[in-house]
Amino acid sequence: MLIRKLHHTIAPAQPLLPGLSDWGQAQVTVVEHAYRVDWGQGVRPRFHHVTKRRACQCALGPACPSVLRVREYLEAGGERAPDYPDDYWPAVPYACPICAGICDAYPPLDFTAHGLGWTCRAGGTLHYWEARLQPILHARQALNGQPRWVIPPAIGPNGERLYPGVTVDDVRTAREQAHATRCRWRAEGYNPWS
Ligand SMILES: [Zn+2]
Ligand SMILES: [Zn+2]
Repeated sequence: MLIRKLHHTIAPAQPLLPGLSDWGQAQVTVVEHAYRVDWGQGVRPRFHHVTKRRACQCALGPACPSVLRVREYLEAGGERAPDYPDDYWPAVPYACPICAGICDAYPPLDFTAHGLGWTCRAGGTLHYWEARLQPILHARQALNGQPRWVIPPAIGPNGERLYPGVTVDDVRTAREQAHATRCRWRAEGYNPWS
């Protein structure tokens, strides 16, 4: 045990390539939007983090065997790391999401919640901001496409509609009509039949 410890202390600091014997034991787990490869105690650094862009965060980068290990894990049906949200850029995009033009890094627009800032050679920072707005626009479109219920409809056991339900738009329309009626009463006098 002491010898093992000494060996660890004097071992070089640069990353060691895992031997073939370690290959099958390497455990891959999903950590946020990346993969963590655990090569076990015999390999240092023991833990490697492989991004979805197929590069390891260790000094070996895309040449790290951990990248191959992750590919093997995915081919064997391993759980995939979730994609980044549309308004998060872990790296400067290859192509502008708005016009597909060339993008350059733009550090003033680096944000923790949105990743690296960039500008587009055709649209500048305007295309960055347009890309940031896309998820909001999509969410709004999705909301507009389906009714937003204040009181959801009641459906009977045989699929018959027992109660039609009330949507946000119904409430808004009713409120507008009530307002219009009140205005008319004020102008023309109260008439319960109008
Ligand atoms: Zn690595
Ligand atoms: Zn652009």
